[in-house]
Amino acid sequence: MKDELLNLAQRTTINRNDLDQISEICKDYVLDSGQVMFVQIDKQGNVVSCNQAFRRPFNIPVNHPRLNIFDYLISQKGDLIGGFDHHFGQPTLFSTPLSKQKFMFYVYEVRSGFLLFGQLLDASDEVQYSQLADITTSMGNLVQEVKRVNNELKLSNERNLELALKDELTGLANRRFLFQRLNEEVSEAVRYDHPLSLVIIDLDFFKTINDQHGHQVGDQVLHEIGLILNDLTRASDIAARHGGEEFAIVLPETGLQQAYLFSERTRQAIKQLSLSMKYQNIRITISAGVAQFDPAESIDQLVSRADHALYVAKENGRDQVCRSEVDT
Ligand code: GH3
Ligand code: MG
Ligand code: MG
Repeated sequence: MKDELLNLAQRTTINRNDLDQISEICKDYVLDSGQVMFVQIDKQGNVVSCNQAFRRPFNIPVNHPRLNIFDYLISQKGDLIGGFDHHFGQPTLFSTPLSKQKFMFYVYEVRSGFLLFGQLLDASDEVQYSQLADITTSMGNLVQEVKRVNNELKLSNERNLELALKDELTGLANRRFLFQRLNEEVSEAVRYDHPLSLVIIDLDFFKTINDQHGHQVGDQVLHEIGLILNDLTRASDIAARHGGEEFAIVLPETGLQQAYLFSERTRQAIKQLSLSMKYQNIRITISAGVAQFDPAESIDQLVSRADHALYVAKENGRDQVCRSEVDT
């Protein structure tokens, strides 16, 4: 190579073709002098050009560079760790077990094919590479695990929150949530001087249903009542299981008369219900007590007035709604 350059330099006139030749020779010289392997391949994997560092381990004669890199890997029972085209700009490991060599290449896509820059790996490089691969795998697993645990935690938090606020059997608010919301709604009603009413419902002769059909059927009846209450209430109302076979509904922005009409509608809807369970039709009625909140009273007083109205409804023969008449 030096000789060729010397020949050119000794000539007195240098034309444009000579200049091109000089730059080619210089390029080869630079590429051939280092340890870094360089190879250009076309899209089919045929070596188009390569440097000395690549020729040596691959045994490619200078004047016969037509090696197909994929065929070569196959003939060597070689392996390409990681896909070829998914690793542009990333190190790709080539291993050729037959010749017991490993190479690390950086692959770049160019218009005519690919450019590969790489180096032969010695044992310590290999260890580093496999450690890197191990770390990458562990990191990937860890990320997956963290994602999974986070997801589980999120679900269990949602479930806990639901359990804390909801009654499982009926899907309605539980007693605790009922009183929490009742407190908030009463504060709002006082603050804005808006009406608010409370309805307490108790199933009539429910003990008989349990006695005749069993506790499980009784549970199903309670579940059905939950669905009906959910259907009949607005999003801003709070329908809750007050306990046992008793339900409470907080009706914000609702005066006594409207609350009474709501309770009547509910009573009739439940009375018309025919629950077919275990080949039997079960019918049930409810009694309800309604009270409108008086800003001068406490929540306890409101609840006991609604309770008292319910007691009166029971006393008067059940299957009816009674209002607490002490309201404004
Ligand atoms: P009344 O019309 O006076 O209210 O009669 P009642 O039979 O409904 O009233 P009582 O208080 O005597 O009985 C209520 C029954 O409700 C007794 C109890 O076993 C039943 N009960 C309470 N909670 C549940 C429940 O979660 N599931 C079932 N299946 N039954 C329940
Ligand atoms: Mg009861
Ligand atoms: Mg009852």
